[in-house]
Amino acid sequence: MTTTWRCLLVWLLLACSLPAFAGPALDLAPDARDAALSPHLSYRHDATRADRPQDAWRRIEDGGFAALPGGKDAFGFQRGAFWFHATVVNRNPGEPRWLLVQEYPLSDRLDLFVRYPDGRVVHHVGGDHVPFAARSVRYRHPNMLLDLPTDTPVQLLLRVESESSMQVPLHLYTPAAFTEVSRDAQLAIGLYYGILLALFFYNLVLWLSLRDASYFWYLCHITAFGLVLFTLNGLGFEYLWPDSPWMADHMVPISICLALVAMLQFARTFLELPQRAPRLNAGTIALIGFFLVFGVASVWLPYRISTPVASRAVLVGVLWIVLVTIHVLRRGYTPARLLLLAWSMFLLGTAIFTLLAFGALPKNFATEYGVQIGSALEMLLLSIALGYRYAQLRNENQRITDEANRRLERSVAERTQELQQALSQLRHAHEKLQDSSRRDALTGLYNRSFFHEGFDRLLDECRQARRPLSLLMVDLDHFKSINDRHGHLVGDDCLRWAARRIGRSLRPHDALLARFGGEEFVVVLPNHDLRGAVAVAESVRRSLVDGEFESQGTQLRISASIGVHTIAPDAPDDIDDALDTADKALYAAKANGRDCVRTSITAA
Ligand code: GH3
Ligand code: MG
Ligand code: MG
Repeated sequence: MTTTWRCLLVWLLLACSLPAFAGPALDLAPDARDAALSPHLSYRHDATRADRPQDAWRRIEDGGFAALPGGKDAFGFQRGAFWFHATVVNRNPGEPRWLLVQEYPLSDRLDLFVRYPDGRVVHHVGGDHVPFAARSVRYRHPNMLLDLPTDTPVQLLLRVESESSMQVPLHLYTPAAFTEVSRDAQLAIGLYYGILLALFFYNLVLWLSLRDASYFWYLCHITAFGLVLFTLNGLGFEYLWPDSPWMADHMVPISICLALVAMLQFARTFLELPQRAPRLNAGTIALIGFFLVFGVASVWLPYRISTPVASRAVLVGVLWIVLVTIHVLRRGYTPARLLLLAWSMFLLGTAIFTLLAFGALPKNFATEYGVQIGSALEMLLLSIALGYRYAQLRNENQRITDEANRRLERSVAERTQELQQALSQLRHAHEKLQDSSRRDALTGLYNRSFFHEGFDRLLDECRQARRPLSLLMVDLDHFKSINDRHGHLVGDDCLRWAARRIGRSLRPHDALLARFGGEEFVVVLPNHDLRGAVAVAESVRRSLVDGEFESQGTQLRISASIGVHTIAPDAPDDIDDALDTADKALYAAKANGRDCVRTSITAA
């Protein structure tokens, strides 16, 4: 049979077997490798789910099926079942078997009835309410391997029932074409999860070493978001819960809620909302509360209700974060800039994906994987943002530490200076105290105890230098009568005056002058022999007797008797001996009528 005849025959067969309405049959050309089924589909919404396959076949014949509205194969969330019909003619003799792939992984149940011209009907099942193992090819999208004999019109009747969105992006592939397409898609998905895993472990290590809460929430975010896409891609059903349709359904809203909770928590800690924007923080907590409650409720809520709500809430959550980030950025928190960029990437990816879904953008790698590319960039940027924020925190800490150190050093220096000042005051006070303990309160001269110390020291020095040392005992004459006649205060004045006079006349002689007691003074003259000492004693006596002092309006004169004793370098005298001898000389001076100088020699 020639090809022309064969075609004619097929058309005849088609004309007999096809219903009043049907989309144009899908002609798989001899060199065709794949084809989309949508342009050839007609459909019927069976809201009550009452129809059985034979009812559907009858309705097709009765013209009860309509073309896809606007040519679109997506109907949104719908109740009941949908029936789709198409006729396929395979004109590729080299490819008798074709793979029908439902390129939307979340449909609950697919029932495909393949009717051949001989009346034979083959039934295939698919969707995530059927165990994963039922698929012809182990792949994330439901798929069924069909026998399409060459040049034979085959009718496909597909019943779809799903609580998720009603979508039928059906595509026919030759096995080779499917291998190539799926390999590219798997590579893209593998790359995506590779990036996510690398970011996860990188930030896990950072979190373990830094223990910063932002890192923890970032890890939660990346995990939960990865889980969302894993579920939406159909990989969750393939790898994680292949026998659990319940999980396949409910993990969509649950993982979305988890991702949003982690996302919002991450934004809270990263942007330091509790400190920087308490009101927006409260709003964020409220949103987190909503997603937590809704996530838990999703366990019981029908999937048909929870999934669209959760999907819409993603937009609210992301927009809220953008709003909060802009607010914090305007308050001058620079790490927010990277966060904003990251979310913009995510939004851009999602927008591209949405525009693709509405047919506003051509389908290519960048648009089809917009969400993946956007979110991978987002997570990469978030990871960089975390690093940037950490560096900023560390710099800030360093600055605070340096500042604290500087302040500490300053205050230590101040305290040290104060301490040194206090110490020097103390030393001064101590010196003053020490000095006053050596001095006589009335005259300001050295007292008797210091005289003892000074005498011993000077005597030692003179002995070592083999020089003589002389001692003068000066006693005011008839002093008692001054007290008696003019009173003690005048007596005190007289003592002070006499002390000054004696001190002044001793100035050139490097002498040690002390008040010995009462009106008696003692003078040590180092390096003075007897003659020199007598000369000094004379000058002292004269300075007193020649002077006149005034106290309380009374002019007074006073004299003194002086006893002199000289200790030769080799003389064995100690202080008591020396004082005793000098005292004797003084006694002699008193005995000699006072106001005169006597030596130990003259006294003897
Ligand atoms: P003489 O010439 O023999 O030394 O006679 P005098 O009166 O100076 O000696 P006397 O030892 O009899 O008297 C010393 C007096 O000095 C007795 C005492 O009241 C007085 N006197 C001692 N210490 C002080 C003092 O600090 N202030 C006053 N106003 N008088 C003092
Ligand atoms: Mg006297
Ligand atoms: Mg006396």
